[in-house]
Parts: sequence; structure tokens; C-alpha cells
Amino acid sequence: MRKKNIVVIGAGIKGLAVACQVLAKKMSANVTVVDKESPGVYHMSDGSHNTQCGHSGLYYTPGTLKAILNEYGFELLRDYIIRRNLPYNPCGKIVVGYGSEKDNRLLERYYTNALANGRSPKKVRMLDGNAVRKKEPLLSKEIASALEVDEPYLFNANSILRDMEKDVMDAGGTVRHNTRVVGIASSARDMRWTIKTTKGDLHADFFINAGGGQVDRIAQMVGGAKNWFICPVVGIYKDMINPTGMHLQHMVYQVPSDPENPFLDPHAIESDGSIHFGPTAMVKWGMREHYSGSMVPHLGEMIQAHVNPGTWLFYLNNIKNVPREIGRHYSNRIFANACQRMIDESKLTIDPSILRFYKLGIRGQHVSSKGVISNEFGLEKHVINGELRGVTDINPGSPGFTASLAVGCLVADIVGSHDKYTDIDFNSQAFREKVRQLFIRRRK
Ligand SMILES: Cc1cc2nc3c(=O)[nH]c(=O)nc-3n(C[C@H](O)[C@H](O)[C@H](O)COP(=O)(O)OP(=O)(O)OC[C@H]3O[C@@H](n4cnc5c(N)ncnc54)[C@H](O)[C@@H]3O)c2cc1C
Repeated sequence: MRKKNIVVIGAGIKGLAVACQVLAKKMSANVTVVDKESPGVYHMSDGSHNTQCGHSGLYYTPGTLKAILNEYGFELLRDYIIRRNLPYNPCGKIVVGYGSEKDNRLLERYYTNALANGRSPKKVRMLDGNAVRKKEPLLSKEIASALEVDEPYLFNANSILRDMEKDVMDAGGTVRHNTRVVGIASSARDMRWTIKTTKGDLHADFFINAGGGQVDRIAQMVGGAKNWFICPVVGIYKDMINPTGMHLQHMVYQVPSDPENPFLDPHAIESDGSIHFGPTAMVKWGMREHYSGSMVPHLGEMIQAHVNPGTWLFYLNNIKNVPREIGRHYSNRIFANACQRMIDESKLTIDPSILRFYKLGIRGQHVSSKGVISNEFGLEKHVINGELRGVTDINPGSPGFTASLAVGCLVADIVGSHDKYTDIDFNSQAFREKVRQLFIRRRK
């Protein structure tokens, strides 16, 4: 029998995790991962472009696909890191509130979410202002209450990416860099795809689109992404040396200004004697992947974004957040003020003039054609003759790194028994329940 060809588009964390999990199923298939970049260049997945926090499910509505994939992904990634002896810091997280009714309500919600999304009650607790300052003496007197969660960890993204790419090759898969996918055609006769790349054609019985910030464009090659698109949202991090001798032990997050928005307000994480603050959240009117730090708009990208009515609706829907985000993004002073709120000024003054640019990342934010930001994860189906033969990971945003291995397991299950998934609506409760059952079985 002919071996099946599985092609994964994108060698970021999701594409590599999918390839590893498909290979682990030993289903007599050739697995090829293609990426348009050179080896070692990852986009959102790269450690220099994200926070590297193993998220513990505080912000995600229980029962959603995001909550389910994050819950299992959190464990799978932690186990992977520990097994491989990769850099790992289980420092835990403190989310601080300033005493408003909204902050208290959200902290309560995050507490409930944490328990519903897999955290042990022994590892989650509410603290009053004094208790939080006892644990973290640098924190501001303005903080009235906080949620402490012991389990979140910091990881080193690049070490994981390197190991996972090696795992793919060790398991018999192929990773082809400098290979850009430029078109995809289906053949109903032999039920296969022809994936056109800059290095020639590949034939695939099943393909997985894990193209990060480009997933919509790749999905459009097969008639997908009809009612959604990716909006690039850039986040800048800044840092400063902490000369106080009082070091932050936890990741410190603030209750977000807009909890319906997936972008969390600037947080503070200390490593090697420096505190890193950020990220901001600003629409990027430029290339979707461009890490020089330049905010110079790219004309072609700008035109392409603005002929899309969804972009204008997105602006309208988010207008209330614009002044705050523009301020933090473009003004060092406003950014410093937003961070100072967490930190006791009498102990450490966040002087805008000493904040240094640290790094920047671009989120590939899923937005509906009506301009609504999606807080949910999802997969889009691609069919040949009514049969499921491909999937797109439609929301490459956070906590995509934490969830990656769970996404990999789910997609591997779909690849292995795609006939069973053909008639299931990926947006349905039945699908989410099936996914939950898959991980319950895996845990046993
Ligand atoms: C500022 C920021 C902070 C974040 N913080 C966290 C965090 O703390 N914890 C967490 O879990 N997640 C976090 N995330 C999210 C996380 O980084 C992403 O969800 C994850 O890295 C996405 O991985 P990916 O593999 O889907 O996409 P990517 O890493 O972007 O990989 C996609 C790959 O596809 C390739 N590609 C694209 N188009 C083509 C094409 N046509 N042909 C061939 N290859 C192509 C690209 O070259 C790229 O290598 C953060 C993201 C940002 C931006």
C-alpha cells in the first residue's frame, strides 16, 4: 500500500508539534514540514517574540476549545521541557487588582476559571494587598488584592523549537526550510492536494496549515478564510535594570483593562537582574512578520488590509481601546506609568528615560469579517469531494505556544481518523466534548 503524504505548512511551534504527534502515531505516512524561512528563524514562536509563559488557564472561559487545549497543552509542554531538561522556571504568577469593583469581579472570575481549567485548589489563592506585598515587596501599595497561582512557568521557546525540529527529523519526518507555499490545488480524481512551493510541487493526502500570521492567506489558496482574516497586532517589551536588591519572584500581571480583549495589559517579569515590561497591543500597518522594531508602514500590506471592510469594522469595534493602546505604544512616559502602577515608586521608579527597547512580537489575531476579535481557538476544514483532507489552525494567537502539543495531538487524531471527523462541526459543543474525551483517554 502507498504511504500517505502529510504536509505541514509552517515550522513554528504548532507545525512542529503537529508533525511530532502525527509521526508518533506511526501511521505509515511521509511527514514533510515546509517553512518559507531559514532554519532557526521562527515567527511568533520564537522566544524573542513572545513572553514565554506557560499559561495556566485563568483567562479562558471553561469549556471553550482554547481552555481545553490550553489545559492539556500546559501539562504536555511542561512534561516535555522537564523530560528534555530544557530551561524551565516554575515561578508562578500573581495577577494584581487595584480594588475597583471590576478588578475584584475579574479576580474572582480568574480564580473560578483556574479551578475549572485544571489548576489544583491547593495551588491557587486570593491574597489581600498586605499579603501580596509580603511575598513581593516591590509591589505597589495601590494593590488591594491579587490572585496567586503557583503552577505557571517560564520556558525557553528557542530550546523547545530546536528540540522539536530535531524530533521530527529523528522520527523520520522531513523539514524543508526556505520553501514558501505559493498555491494549493486539489485533485478530485486521486483525492490529493498539490502544494505548490518555491522549491517545486509536493503532493499531499492531507495538509495542515500552521502558517501563523499567514494562515488566512494560505487558507484562501483553497477557498477558505471566507469570513475571517488575520490582523497583525504588534507588542513591544521594554526593560530596565532592577538595582533594588528586591527581586520579583513571580510573573506579575495586572487585571486587564478590557477583559474581552485577548491582549493582556503590560506585565512584569524579572530575569538576570532586569525587569521586562510589556507587551503593548497596537495594530501593525506593516509587514505581518518584521522584527526590526521599525513601525514604518508597508504600502502593499496597508492597501491589502484596508480594502477589507473587516479592518474598518475592527477599528470601529475597538475604538474605546485605541487611545490607551496608542499612548502606551508610542509614549515611553505613558508606558512607564502603566507599569509603575504595579510597582512601589518609593522603592523603584520606572523612569521613562531608562526604559530600553527589549523585544517585539506580532500576534496573528483572528478577526471575523464583521471586525470582531476572536478569543477562541479553532480549526477550519478543507475537503476534497466532501471528505476532510486538510485543516487550518485559524487562531495562531496566545496561548498558542502553551497549547501547541495539545493542538498537535488533536490534529494527529484528525489526520489518523479523518473520516470520523468529516461530519462533525468544528464549532460545535459535540466537537469540544470529543476533544475533551481525547485528552481524558490520553491521560489514562
Ligand atoms: C507578543 C506575544 C506574546 C505572546 N506570549 C505568549 C505566551 O506567553 N505564552 C504562549 O503560550 N503564547 C504566547 N504567544 C503566542 C505564541 O507565541 C503563538 O501562539 C505561537 O508561537 C504561534 O505559533 P505558530 O506555529 O502558530 O506560528 P508561527 O510561530 O508564526 O509559525 C508559523 C510559521 O509558518 C511559516 N509560514 C508562513 N507562511 C508560509 C508560507 N506561505 N509557506 C511556508 N511557510 C510559511 C512562517 O515562516 C512561520 O515559521 C505570544 C505571542 C506574541 C506575539
